[in-house]
Amino acid sequence: MKPLLLIDIDGPLNPYAALSRRRTPEGYTRHLMRPTGWTAGPALPVLLDPRHGEELLALAGRYELIWATTWKDEANEWIGPHLGLPPLPYIDWPDMHGAAPAGTYWKTQYVVEYAAGRPFAWVDDEITERDRAWVGEHGTGAESLLLQIDPRVGLERPDFDALAAWADGRGSG
Ligand SMILES: [Mg+2]
Repeated sequence: MKPLLLIDIDGPLNPYAALSRRRTPEGYTRHLMRPTGWTAGPALPVLLDPRHGEELLALAGRYELIWATTWKDEANEWIGPHLGLPPLPYIDWPDMHGAAPAGTYWKTQYVVEYAAGRPFAWVDDEITERDRAWVGEHGTGAESLLLQIDPRVGLERPDFDALAAWADGRGSG
């Protein structure tokens, strides 16, 4: 069975920390969006680079792609089409921004739960050493790769290379 690739949007695909710069980062397009709940005030600016979609599709031979984002199912409506991605399964968080054990990020406990013993790679800008430690102790023993992505930069070539190499290094088991 292929490992899961759990994909956060804000940070890895939308380098939101670069939004304040005068110039849109190379390769990116600035979109204005109104997802559910974003009704008041100005629309939400989102930076997206279609090359990310190509890179993710290239990884789909090695991984099962899953959205792991607060956009939840709306990722398939607002984000995926701009990247040329088909609708993907998503983690339906039981609770968002809620309590988390041992100083971990709130998503971490649910990521482990969702993976349910399957090996997984996870890209997110909020991963820290605490999450790696917690997954090591409380995971099911399945292998995992937690990649912290700089939200000023987003996913880049070395990240995709690291994801491909990790999946290949695991063999086909
Ligand atoms: Mg994020």
